[in-house]
Amino acid sequence: RAKRDPSRRVTTFRPEMHTAALRQLQIEADLPHAAARGQMRVVYQPIVDLQTGTIGGYEALLRWQHPHLGNVPPDEFIPLAEELEVISELGQYVLETACRTFQQVPEFVTSASPSPALQVNVSTRQFLRPGFVDVVRRVLADSSFSTGRLHLEITESALIVDVEEAARTLTELRGLGIKIHIDDFGTGYSSLAFLHRFPVDALKIDRAFIARLGEDGVSVKLVQTVLLLAQTMEVDVIAEGIETRTQRDLLLGLGCRRGQGYLFSRPLEVEDTLDLLRAGSGALTGPYD
Ligand code: C2E
Ligand code: MG
Ligand code: MG
Ligand code: MG
Repeated sequence: RAKRDPSRRVTTFRPEMHTAALRQLQIEADLPHAAARGQMRVVYQPIVDLQTGTIGGYEALLRWQHPHLGNVPPDEFIPLAEELEVISELGQYVLETACRTFQQVPEFVTSASPSPALQVNVSTRQFLRPGFVDVVRRVLADSSFSTGRLHLEITESALIVDVEEAARTLTELRGLGIKIHIDDFGTGYSSLAFLHRFPVDALKIDRAFIARLGEDGVSVKLVQTVLLLAQTMEVDVIAEGIETRTQRDLLLGLGCRRGQGYLFSRPLEVEDTLDLLRAGSGALTGPYD
């Protein structure tokens, strides 16, 4: 790969480039061992009913605390994990850890509020790797986590490489009872013709669109379009990255009922998550009600 080509590395001599290159090298060297060395953990961000604050689910998000570099953000190490081909192992770590955590709290099912769902991100390479469905099946069996509570978040890029194969994989996953969410919706290459070929359960509107809500009319129209599309496809919508009351109120006004964002809660450490899960049908209250 170009990055490992020494002739390319010596062409850059600015000090900040040197620092960045060193960081990159250190991350590349340490990432494959990070989980085994206990540097990885999973945090959980509540997904709420925008009207009531009731928690309907949690998104599992990976965190890496590097001994020298400190917190390395997933936007930096996940793409590298894909390149280094260690993403499947990392993804399996997240799936196992999250299922085991949620399994610690007995499930409750009432018609009003079933136990919150667990949403786990799946990277493109992980999704495309042969045997992915078998791994998911085995993790579910080992943790005896109820499959109906597991939702997998997949980006559009995972679907476009091989449309037929992707549709088959999604069908198999849904056959297990798993729900499928399209993550970062609006940033990929989906067209109407393309989307309806996939059995999906929800679209997650990328936070870039939510961030601009209330600042320009175009984003309102874009969100409206996604909501209309979802209605036509008969799938749910979740808005990402809601930070302000204005955004939340606009979304509710447009008919979007579910979302996640710092307005409601940041991703929570495992103990805080377990406390909320044990508290039962929790609703987050805050300055937004
Ligand atoms: P994502 O799946 O779209 O996750 C949502 C991201 O938005 C998370 O960033 C979350 O912390 C952040 N977020 C939530 N609410 C707000 C808000 O109100 N404001 C702002 N500014 N940000 C908000 P995070 O945890 O840094 O993860 C970034 C991305 O890294 C994720 O985007 C996902 O693509 C990837 N990622 C994280 N954990 C995993 C994992 O376990 N597996 C895989 N394959 N990817 C992961
Ligand atoms: Mg996600
Ligand atoms: Mg997302
Ligand atoms: Mg996103």
